[in-house]
Amino acid sequence: MKQLVVLSGKGGTGKTTVTASLAQSLKPVVLADCDVEAPNLHLLLSPRVERSFSLSVSRKARIDPDACDGCGACADSCRFGAITGAEIRVVDAFRCEGCGVCARVCPRDAVFFHEPEGAEVYIGSTSFGPMVGAELAVGEEASGKVVSRVRMEAQLLALDSGLPLVLVDGSPGTGCPVIASMSGADLTLIVTEPSLSGLHDLERILGVASHFGVPALVCINKSDIVPEIARRIRDRCRFLGIEVAAEIPFSEAVVESLRRGLPPLGNVPREVEDPLRTLAEVVAGRLDEAVARKRG
Ligand code: SF4
Ligand code: SF4
Repeated sequence: MKQLVVLSGKGGTGKTTVTASLAQSLKPVVLADCDVEAPNLHLLLSPRVERSFSLSVSRKARIDPDACDGCGACADSCRFGAITGAEIRVVDAFRCEGCGVCARVCPRDAVFFHEPEGAEVYIGSTSFGPMVGAELAVGEEASGKVVSRVRMEAQLLALDSGLPLVLVDGSPGTGCPVIASMSGADLTLIVTEPSLSGLHDLERILGVASHFGVPALVCINKSDIVPEIARRIRDRCRFLGIEVAAEIPFSEAVVESLRRGLPPLGNVPREVEDPLRTLAEVVAGRLDEAVARKRG
């Protein structure tokens, strides 16, 4: 089983469009939508949900009003300001980080913990292979735990079905969910765009990939919108020895296919489709090389 993760520094770079085009070209694959805070892949690939389950990702404090005498020691100790009320103390679940300090300082043993549902993980099927994704509960932030579970379910599906590739639409940014998206991957494809923030984000993700020893490729999306910065991205990649696998020009048709919920290949003009197909060929080749190197 090979694992490819598609990443970007922030939302809106076209990462999901690129992931969907890779699914179309490399099918059948197992898809893992690890962009759990702003999932979009399902909009393009329309998975038919076959099963789902809820996942707890955090614990929250609660106060037993019968045991509490309102002394306020817990509120004074909570550095997140999560305990409100005067005589009757209550915990604001949106602020509570589950640190446990309130339970330690409570003289009446009135604090207990519960694990609310944090995400609904689903497993479904698409025209390009099975797909796993998750929907976060209201107020829940993307966590490495949800991302890791989505990836694990995708890996199990790949093992069960014998499909050779897990294609991960990773979380944007460089935080914990990104690390959870990337860990154990054979190759990462970083989708960037020619803007100063894109250049900055690219450097940061390349740093994370290098730290975890995951080989990286770059795809410059909307490559023609600011040619000077596209050139700087190419120069920087050349300096770092990172291959720019494809450059995809901007097209309103891509925006329109997203809006209509259509996967890109077959729904965008030739000048966009050709580099997307080239990208899939390059990625497939580099993935084989990376796996061969790993296996020694
Ligand atoms: S568990 Fe921590 S964050 Fe939550 S209410 Fe208690 S002290 Fe505050
Ligand atoms: S420390 Fe315990 S007894 Fe005091 S207000 Fe908090 S929950 Fe109630």
